[in-house]
Order: sequence, then structure tokens, then C-alpha cells
Amino acid sequence: MLSTLRTLLLRQRPFRYVGTRMPCNLCSGTDFVVIARRDRWLNPLTNSICRRCGLVCLDPMPTEAEVADFYSRKYRRHYDGAAEPTAKHLLRSRRSAELRFRILEPHLKPGMRILDVGSGSGEFLARLKEAGYEAEGVEPDESFARYAERSYGMKVHAAPLAEVDFGRRKFDLVTSWHSLEHMRDPHQALTRMHELLAADGLAHLVVPDLAEPHKTPMANFRFAHLHGFTRETFAMLAAKAGFASLDDPQWGTGPLFRRLAGPDPGWFRYPAHAERLEAYLHDRTLWRMLLSGETWRRFVRRVRYLVGDRLTLWRAARGRSH
Ligand SMILES: [Zn+2]
Repeated sequence: MLSTLRTLLLRQRPFRYVGTRMPCNLCSGTDFVVIARRDRWLNPLTNSICRRCGLVCLDPMPTEAEVADFYSRKYRRHYDGAAEPTAKHLLRSRRSAELRFRILEPHLKPGMRILDVGSGSGEFLARLKEAGYEAEGVEPDESFARYAERSYGMKVHAAPLAEVDFGRRKFDLVTSWHSLEHMRDPHQALTRMHELLAADGLAHLVVPDLAEPHKTPMANFRFAHLHGFTRETFAMLAAKAGFASLDDPQWGTGPLFRRLAGPDPGWFRYPAHAERLEAYLHDRTLWRMLLSGETWRRFVRRVRYLVGDRLTLWRAARGRSH
């Protein structure tokens, strides 16, 4: 109970930063307009949209040193109230690891070399290992990287992807689950993943969708999310870095991508998207969200989910003490 309260109080404290101006990571545009001045906990935080392509980013963008500082020490405390993974974190991480494994299972082949970028506390790596696959991770949070090594015997590089030297090694599958939105330069990260993949390699890349129906875009606004994507902007970014969506020939509905030989020169496929998204985001105000029935249905589902997690953890703890 006390730790929950501490986490909630920590969330109320905004993460202060100075930041810097940067051109758009997708189209290099510099024409931005503000779409939100508060984060999901109502702390001051500015998000802007690029008027040329529709990519959303923090404005100003935190500097590399500010991001490194946040991720190396503050991030997990900010979110989980602890530097080490909590029981609640592990419960959820195991659940998402199982979900990811099931999604990817039809595409997995014996002997595949797999790299998980943003591997967190390592539950997905452990799940792959359990199924007999060779996998390693990249995780800038030192304590989480060490936890994965210690608990599951996994190899994890405790550094940002750009700083890891893989020599001449190539991978058959690169996975990234909710980590590209945390990066200052997601295009560079995708380009690096492209380099690290074998010619016929696959990538499973999942980011939150700002335009997800039944969810307020505000839920995605927080200091840790340096970029905000939609299906369209993410598909364009992936195409620009040399990836094509596996399940949609028109690109970009699914998170499973195949590696192209190089960047797709026709990556700018949704020129009308920026204007539409800007109007949509202006429309989805906090008041409108509070007045919508779906928000409250979602709230009830969320409470049910949280209570369910608490019960599971409580039963597990009671089981251990008997
Ligand atoms: Zn742009």
C-alpha cells in the first residue's frame, strides 16, 4: 500500500528538463504546432505535431544527457517506485512475454538468432530461451539488464542500441516492444536494426498508437515518450529505414515487418495524414474524453484489471508463507 502511494506521489512530480529544438525525426520538417501542454498526470509537458508528416514529439526534445540521466537512474523509480523489478512489474512482464511469444511462434524457426531491443527485466528473452531459441537483449537500464542476466542467465547489453558493438554478427529476428517511442532518434534505431538483420530477417516492432480508438491520446503523453506514433507515421518511418509490413501490401497495419534491401524511396505514403491527425488530436480534448461513455467503461475495465493483479500477487504471497 505504502509503495503504491509513493509511486503515485512520484508520478505527480514532473521531470524537469531544458531540452533542445530538433527537426522532425521522420521528415526533417521544422513546422510544428503544439497539441498538448499536459502529460497524463496533468503535469506541464508539451507535445507538438509535425505539420508535414504527423509525427508527434516532445517539444523541446530532451537532450541526450537528460534522456540518459532519466533512463539510467530515474525511469523505473518514476514508474514502478523501485529500481529493481517489482512483483507487479514481473507479473505483467511475464504476461506480455507470453503474448509476444504466441504472436511470433508461427514465424520462429530452430536456430534463429533473436535480438530484443529494450528487453527490460528479460521475461521475453527467458520465454524464448525456454522454447529453445538463442536470444539476447539490449537494455539501457543497468539494474534491469543485470536482473535479466542474474535471474534468467540471459546475455543483455546494458547500453543504448547505438552504443552496442555486435561486430559482424547478424540476427534473423529483431523485436522491440514499446521501446521506440522512448527514443530521441527512432529512425536511427530502426536503421541500426536494419543493419543488424540478415537479408531475409524479420522485425516485430510494437509502439503505442496515438490515434487508437477508445483511448485518449493524452494517456500516451509522458516524459518517457519522446515520440508519439500512429499506424501511418510508424509505417512511414519503418519504410524509410528499409522495412515493409508483412501483412499489408499497402504498409503499416501490422507490427511484423520484413527487411527490404534498403530504404524505400516511396516512404512518404500518407501526405494527408498530418492535417487529419492534427484535427483529430485537437478534437480529443480532456473534457470530451471525460464526457464519453467509453472512457468510463475503459476505467472500469482498468480497475478490474488492477484488482485482478493485486489478488494474484496476494495469493502468490500467501502461498509462499504457508
Ligand atoms: Zn515530420
